[in-house]
Amino acid sequence: MVRQLESYEEKAIQLIKSKGSVLQSELWKMLSLDSREGSRLVQRLIKRGLVGREEVTMNGRRTFRLVVLQRNKKEGSILINIESIIDLPCTVCPQIDQCEPGNSVEPGTCAIMDNWLDKVIREGKTTRSR
Ligand code: SF4
Repeated sequence: MVRQLESYEEKAIQLIKSKGSVLQSELWKMLSLDSREGSRLVQRLIKRGLVGREEVTMNGRRTFRLVVLQRNKKEGSILINIESIIDLPCTVCPQIDQCEPGNSVEPGTCAIMDNWLDKVIREGKTTRSR
């Protein structure tokens, strides 16, 4: 019997997230899938960029450890590495309490923020998500 793997995707992601990482074969057992179904499910999750895997050896056998990949919800949005925001000017800005959209001080019109973003882009500290 061919099961609808779509219904297992969310369960799989929640299981992996809750444990931090899961061996591929453990995931199949937890979801009561056979190896063929489990393998197809993992391939679907990898193809969609939801899960990543690394090869590991357990008890002398090669298998894969699965982890949930962090993604931005919006396709094509820009991700900023943590290293690139270490010198974010807002962290030491004396006007941070008044700074919000609609106020006289706001990120959208802040020259300091503009300069900082220009620097981040110039230095190539951004990566584009898929
Ligand atoms: S956006 Fe500009 S004004 Fe607002 S907190 Fe950051 S540095 Fe300060």
